[in-house]
Amino acid sequence: MTKKQFCDSCQCDAVTVIVERPATYKFRGESFDINERVLQCSVCGEDLYDEDLDSETMQTLTKLYTEKVGLSLQDIKEIRKQYGLSMELFSRILGWSKSTIARYETGKFIPTSSHLIILKRLKDSPESIYEFFKQNLHKFNDKEIEKITKKLNFVDQNEVEKNLIETIQLNFKLHEKTIDTGYGVFNLEKLAHLILFFSEQGVPKTKLMKLLFYSDYLNFKDNLLSITGLPYVRLQYGPVPKDHELLLSTLEKIEFIEVSYEYSGEYEVNRITALQSFDESLFDEDELEVMMKVKEKFKDYGSKSISDYSHNEDAWTKTKEREIISYTHADNLLIK
Ligand SMILES: [Zn+2]
Repeated sequence: MTKKQFCDSCQCDAVTVIVERPATYKFRGESFDINERVLQCSVCGEDLYDEDLDSETMQTLTKLYTEKVGLSLQDIKEIRKQYGLSMELFSRILGWSKSTIARYETGKFIPTSSHLIILKRLKDSPESIYEFFKQNLHKFNDKEIEKITKKLNFVDQNEVEKNLIETIQLNFKLHEKTIDTGYGVFNLEKLAHLILFFSEQGVPKTKLMKLLFYSDYLNFKDNLLSITGLPYVRLQYGPVPKDHELLLSTLEKIEFIEVSYEYSGEYEVNRITALQSFDESLFDEDELEVMMKVKEKFKDYGSKSISDYSHNEDAWTKTKEREIISYTHADNLLIK
């Protein structure tokens, strides 16, 4: 498509052509080689201004630039979102104007080089926002500080939780659908609620470990599948879920349970107490029946007596110290 446009050199409306050519641009302090398209006068060959082609070149440069610094428009939009902060608070934490943030997020402006460096840092390490918050702390009143702290704390917490849960899932993946897990797939949510089921009134940790063991093994015996998909290990005091410390500290962090410390004689006793309510809809009828049976059977047992009881199980006597207890031993469980 050719169109006529006024040419300054020829001083008349001239037929134009679009020419593609390599060009080098300095853009925001960086040098870029691109192929640009320009409008030229077909008579004298002079460049003519064309708004569309000009903005095409700008777009190419912007794209190359954001690629070079490693931050796309989408990234920029996500940065504030990850904190759950309003534009107002976010801009004040950084000490920028609210309209600056708005322009960046809509893509109307590319951030200045120094702002880009900051945004890139916030993307790569979200916790670096604390530095800006500290610097500008005096600009906020107490109420705002409390609100922001809560929001930012949440980010940190989220990151920790996400990593922990991923680690745990990976950890148990190894044993998935094998006899080690009673052919189950590890289900953290079910485990969490099974623990809630037993800890509504608080329960000593050692006893809880055995209650989980009996629930999973009895369900395997009756219904050929474990409830939680957990592998259990033989330890000196009886069977315990593999990596139980990691599991409990994770559930503590995500505020499902509280772990408190008490002294019984010279021993320190950890007590687990539910912080959330038990959701029975996660379990089927057979599972609930097994859980109720286990709760009822051991209701008057303390840590010591349930440990002693479990020491008579094949699961314990026929497994070597620290080894995973096969669910095949469920056939001979003493509890029925
Ligand atoms: Zn011309």
